[in-house]
Amino acid sequence: MSGSKNGTFMRRTGADGVEHRIPVGTIVGDRPGGRVTIFAGQHGTEYDGLEAAQKLYRTLTPADVSGTIVIALSTNDQSFLNWEQFAPTHPPILEMMEELATGSDLLINCHGGEFSEGMEPYVICRLLGDPELDAKARAMADAFGVPYVSFSQYRGEPPETGVRPAWWLWPKKSMSDRLRIPEITPEVGERGSRDDKGIMYDGIVNVLKTFGFLEGQPSGKPAPREIGDRYWLTADEDGIFFPETTIGKDVAEGEHLGVVRDYFGRLIQEVKAPAAAKVMNMNWGMPVKQGGFLLWLGVIK
Ligand SMILES: [Zn+2]
Repeated sequence: MSGSKNGTFMRRTGADGVEHRIPVGTIVGDRPGGRVTIFAGQHGTEYDGLEAAQKLYRTLTPADVSGTIVIALSTNDQSFLNWEQFAPTHPPILEMMEELATGSDLLINCHGGEFSEGMEPYVICRLLGDPELDAKARAMADAFGVPYVSFSQYRGEPPETGVRPAWWLWPKKSMSDRLRIPEITPEVGERGSRDDKGIMYDGIVNVLKTFGFLEGQPSGKPAPREIGDRYWLTADEDGIFFPETTIGKDVAEGEHLGVVRDYFGRLIQEVKAPAAAKVMNMNWGMPVKQGGFLLWLGVIK
């Protein structure tokens, strides 16, 4: 059989009359196989996924592919074009995402740190409670090739655990749950980086090779270590955050991580590590609001 490569805009208008569009690249391989959908740029300033997905579409030909690879090259295009951080996924975008995902065997939804976020690379693996689907999700997470994995496995309200809410294990139901398709969410890149080291691109290619969409062996990185307990630190008051630690650092309990001050230098808050853990994700934006995110630490199992 002879494959094809086709790039086109998908468009959908919401109830508010605003049209949204997604540039979609579809490569139908010369050989039969499954179907995978890759989303980049659901958050428009997370550039690693956008770089990797666009490079993938640009460089692959049908001769390289078995099955079908569908790539949303800029999922939230308004967020991308306007450099809008933490953009909501408007209903028409969600509808289009579901349409692109429907019929696929696997989903890869590329995320990372936005312009004002520091991020240690990790992969979120959604477990759906079905052994066959979960084995595929775990195999994707293992193949991707980043050092850490966060399992997202329960749905509904988290149990009351006091100071350490376990919301990361109790996420809302997602498209992956609704469609019963295994999904990973790589979290790669930070502060405007553009996949300089190729971590996102190589990770996607590793998954595509593992599941036979591309020929060749995945790079065979060690399986990721699981992120266990997580500490989410927030600002006591409005102020300006001065981090004094680095992404990826293993910090001791009580270690100084930074301060929150006002414009005039008055100390509002000293930020300390509540436990020995790794700095996984940090707000690099200077202003912080009361209750707003400063950083989170993960205990690596
Ligand atoms: Zn994101």
